[in-house]
Amino acid sequence: MSSVSQSIQKIKEQLPSGVTLVAVSKTKPNEMIIEAYEAGQRIFGENKVQELVDKQESLPKDIEWHMIGHLQRNKVKYIAPFVSLIHGVDSLRLLRAVNKEGAKSERVIPCLLQMHIASEETKFGLDEDELFQLLESEDYQKFGNVEIRGLMGMATFTDDKEKIAGEFRTLKNSFDRVKKKYFKDRKEFSFLSMGMSGDYDIAVAEGSNMVRIGSSIFGERNYL
Ligand SMILES: *Cc1c(COP(=O)(O)O)cnc(C)c1O
Repeated sequence: MSSVSQSIQKIKEQLPSGVTLVAVSKTKPNEMIIEAYEAGQRIFGENKVQELVDKQESLPKDIEWHMIGHLQRNKVKYIAPFVSLIHGVDSLRLLRAVNKEGAKSERVIPCLLQMHIASEETKFGLDEDELFQLLESEDYQKFGNVEIRGLMGMATFTDDKEKIAGEFRTLKNSFDRVKKKYFKDRKEFSFLSMGMSGDYDIAVAEGSNMVRIGSSIFGERNYL
């Protein structure tokens, strides 16, 4: 058995049922993705549009591709025809672009809204006020080609587990408030995407139901 399939099996054994595993294959070759595919994995995450498009074209068509990285508005059109979930929607302008391309592709594109929970300025995302503003905007009410499926966030890169847990808890609380306020009785709003190789155990303990794991499956990356 390959190390990729062994890693996937090990992680799946650790994840409670109901937690979706997104295998983050960015920078990794198609051969490794096929190994994961043969181990039963069907959901893969990429953070660069061009790489995502190339891989989608050459790999099996029943793979669900998630865009997990920062997305530029002018690049949405390349992934709109096939993307299964966009994790990093962090502005109304981006959501508007996704809606527009969704209409062109005659699709309703599933999205997560990204929240800024880390103390690092470099990480993208909305704060809770901005999130509420977006959901209350007249524009958003009219969008027929996007569907908000939940929230996503990234914790600070640190060894301080208490700090990471606190940030994930903040995101979970936002998720619960948003659910109650705007998506009550709407079962499509159900995903809380938080946790990566270094912190997914903490994320799951804090209520994550979607983890994005790269290096623990495919090995360290040489570049980002
Ligand atoms: C790269 C990346 C991951 C996976 O990171 P690992 O530490 O390799 O598991 C998860 N989420 C996002 C947004 C990423 O860019």
